[in-house]
Order: sequence, then C-alpha cells, then structure tokens
Amino acid sequence: MSYVKALKCRECGQEYEKAAKYVCEFCFGPLEAAYDYDKIKKDMTREKITSRPLNIWRYRELLPVEGDKYNTLQEGYTPLIRADHLGALLGLKNLYIKNDCANPTHSFKDRVVAVASTRALELGFDTLACASTGNLANAVAAYGARAGLKRYVFIPSDLEKGKIIGALVYDPNLIAVNGNYDDVNRLCSEIAGKYKWAFVNINMRPYYAEGSKTLAFETAEQLGWQAPDQVVVPVASGSLLTKIWKGTQEMIKVGLISQKKMRVFGAQAAGCSPVTTAYKAKVDTFRPVKPNTIAKSLAIGNPADGYYALKTIAESNGGAEMATDLEIIEGIKLLAQTEGIFAETAGGVTIACLKKLAESHALDPDAVTVAYITGTGLKTQEAVADHLREVKVIQPNLEAFEASQLTAVS
Ligand SMILES: *Cc1c(COP(=O)(O)O)cnc(C)c1O
Ligand SMILES: [Zn+2]
Repeated sequence: MSYVKALKCRECGQEYEKAAKYVCEFCFGPLEAAYDYDKIKKDMTREKITSRPLNIWRYRELLPVEGDKYNTLQEGYTPLIRADHLGALLGLKNLYIKNDCANPTHSFKDRVVAVASTRALELGFDTLACASTGNLANAVAAYGARAGLKRYVFIPSDLEKGKIIGALVYDPNLIAVNGNYDDVNRLCSEIAGKYKWAFVNINMRPYYAEGSKTLAFETAEQLGWQAPDQVVVPVASGSLLTKIWKGTQEMIKVGLISQKKMRVFGAQAAGCSPVTTAYKAKVDTFRPVKPNTIAKSLAIGNPADGYYALKTIAESNGGAEMATDLEIIEGIKLLAQTEGIFAETAGGVTIACLKKLAESHALDPDAVTVAYITGTGLKTQEAVADHLREVKVIQPNLEAFEASQLTAVS
C-alpha cells in the first residue's frame, strides 16, 4: 500500500500519475512525491517504527513505494556519534556526527538508490542507470546487481580510482565521459529521453530524492525523537539538503516529533560553490560554475536543486560556507584525528565549513548540532595521501624501535 497520492509539480501544483516522470508539462517545474499525511498520521507511530528492522524501510509510510518488496542491502540506520573532542575544539557543546560511511557501498547514495531501484522494479524497468559524480555509480552498480537489473553508469572520466573500482566490481556498463558532471548529466538526459531506462537521478528523481529524507528521520529518532537545532549538510545537486529539511517537517506534521526551528547550513567546496556564493551575495538564484575542486563528489556546477537549497537555507534561517582544497584536506584529518572517522573529500568540506561556521558564530555553541558525513575516505585516498606522516621502516628489534622513537616527531 502506498501513501503517495501523486507526483506533484513544486511550482504550479499540477498532479501527475506515479510514473517515471520528473518535469511538469505546463511550467517545467520539478515533480515531487505528494503524500496523504492525514492517513500517515494515523498509521505511523513511534512504536511501529521501532518494532521494524534497523534500516531505511522502518519509515516506509514516508517513502514513495507501493509494495513491501524492497531492493535492499540493509542501508541506513547509520551511527549518530557524539563528537565531544571535535566539539571542544570548535566550541560546540552538543556536536554529533551522522556517519553515513557505514552504508553498504559506503556513502549516503545507498539510501536514494534503494528507494529508486525499488520503485524501478515496481514500474517494470529492466535497466537501472545514473549520471554520477562517483558514489552514485557505486550504489547503482551494486543495487542494480542486487535487483538483477541491467546497469549503466555514466561518470566524468577523471574520477578517483577508488570510485571507479567501487563501481566496476559490480560489473556495470561503465561509461567514462570526457567532460565534467554537468556534461555527463546533459548526455544522460538525452539518453533517458530515448532509451526506456530508469535513470535514478533523472526520470526517477522524484522517488530517488525522497530516500534522502531517511537521514533526517534517523537523526531525530537517534536524538530521542527530536530534531536537531542546526545541521551542516554538504551540497552537490542540493537535493540532500532540501530533503533533510522536508523529512524533518514531515515528522513534525505527522506528530512523530514536536515543533522545532531547525537551521540548515550548506557546505560546498570553494572550487564549486554556486549555492554558497549566491547565499553570500544575498541573491535567490545561483550562477552555474565550472567546477575545479578535489571534492569531486560535490562537483556539480549547475545544481538541479540549487534554487530550492537556497530557499531552504533562507526559510530555515540557516547559512552556507565554502572550503578550499587545503581546508578540505585539513577537515578530513581533523575529523579522523579527533573522532576516528575517515571521511571522503565531501566530509572534509562539511567539517571545514562546520569549523568556519563555528568560528564566525553563525552556529549557536550550545545548540544540538549535527554534521552529515556522507561518504568514506577509503574511496578518495589520493586526496590525503601526500599530506600524512611518512612511514618509517625499522629492523625487527627493540633497539631499532627505541632509536626510532628518539627521532619521532611527536
Ligand atoms: C552525492 C553526494 C552528496 C550530495 O548530494 P546532493 O543530494 O546531490 O546534494 C554529498 N556527499 C556525498 C559523498 C555525495 O556522494
Ligand atoms: Zn508545473
């Protein structure tokens, strides 16, 4: 049974059948899943949620699928870690890290692909596809294999080795495109118009995007059924940021948590910061950019949901920051060395921006703060490889060990 009434245009409100559609035929606005919240309010209780397995499907009433056959690798319910060491350094008294490295393909993209691939199966597709900045290719390749679907993943040709191998191992048709993500996305939109494939982030986008809400649901549940006061979210297309907001508002609407004024902060790389730049310039539309950053997973110069990300930031009285490549590397090391979590470059962006937002007093030092770490550092090792201590080799005896300690740096 589905609680989704229709797909609905975000701009003009026109409703559509629940097919693989993503743009309004009247105004070209994006389509979004519209739910029957009255019915959800009756059916979705904390007791029911907590009786279910620890994965994203425990919130299935607020997910856009019809049946109860999920294409799942047990994604979600990742750790929410209290980060007292990092918090003390940044002057934040109630800091938490939501560690989404702990997903099956080690990024938050497993949430969105689990939902999109489940819906693709319901709609009878035989091919799962995507335009990816890296992590999405891994998730589509893995979940496509899990579902027994054919899979096509399109990536910019200059991705990190860990991301390419992390896709290839599932044996998808991997197409490396000589261009950046925006070029890849343009090509895929053309292919999606011609081939009857389920492109998770193009024609399946209304379903895909809803999967990101589960990060908000889990965060509130893990905080003892309350929303955080302020969140810091990495921004690529802007979908994740808007959906963390939407998910939180939905929990309030259906009575799972009480009203709370949560502030949403966006984090981007300085080498690809259309949203942050627009926010800082106090304008409500962004200008597309040509990305040049080590944070390749966030390198979308023309973000599909950038406009709505800016709207969410404004509506929530939040903000936005950006981090240079060097700050991103420092951010990765800071999180690893204070809390024991090895994040990818996107996580470096989040931590570097968290630091800047704390230092500029944009964040309330006493408030419950959650920073979203969306992917693992094991896939982007080249980013930090040359910025770590040198490995010293010693002979296998005590003398050599003690001699090595005399010259050790710290
Ligand atoms: C895709 C991605 C994001 C951002 O996703 P959007 O919804 O496109 O803004 C953040 N972090 C990582 C690691 C990603 O792969
Ligand atoms: Zn419309």
